[in-house]
Amino acid sequence: MWRSRSYLQAPSSGWISISESLTSITMNTQINNVRISPHFRLSEFLNLGKYPQNIPTMQDVVNLAYGCLCLLEPARNEVGPIIINSGFRNEDVNRKVGGVKNSQHLIGQAADIRPKDPAQFHRLVEFLKVNPYTDQLLTGNGWLHISWAPFAQPRHYVRIGYYI
Ligand SMILES: [Zn+2]
Repeated sequence: MWRSRSYLQAPSSGWISISESLTSITMNTQINNVRISPHFRLSEFLNLGKYPQNIPTMQDVVNLAYGCLCLLEPARNEVGPIIINSGFRNEDVNRKVGGVKNSQHLIGQAADIRPKDPAQFHRLVEFLKVNPYTDQLLTGNGWLHISWAPFAQPRHYVRIGYYI
């Protein structure tokens, strides 16, 4: 029997449910399960435990995925698991953590990271320094700030011993 109605129903998973989940903080459980690349989950970039209102737009998510695929996945391949301290920040969160006004964190184009194995820190810095997708690389205090520029030429701006 022909059931045209089934074509009108939204799929139970995939992009539609992801975008729906981003509109509601009551759907945090779903956000926690969204993978944006093979080894990174969206939740790792949001810090929703501390900032439940820190919900990105779909464009922010696409930007985060670009950073994962171009920089974080290759870096992980090099130095093993990577800990993300801060990824996407809405304006409120950015203000609270003292981020600069035009921070790339506001649009999902930056992450503050360190290797799970502290002995790999130098290797991670060296790897990102020469990566063609690196926009800004700032290091210090055992963490590093890495940014990417999906819609511009990466600047390859590197400051060692400086951290924001
Ligand atoms: Zn940063």
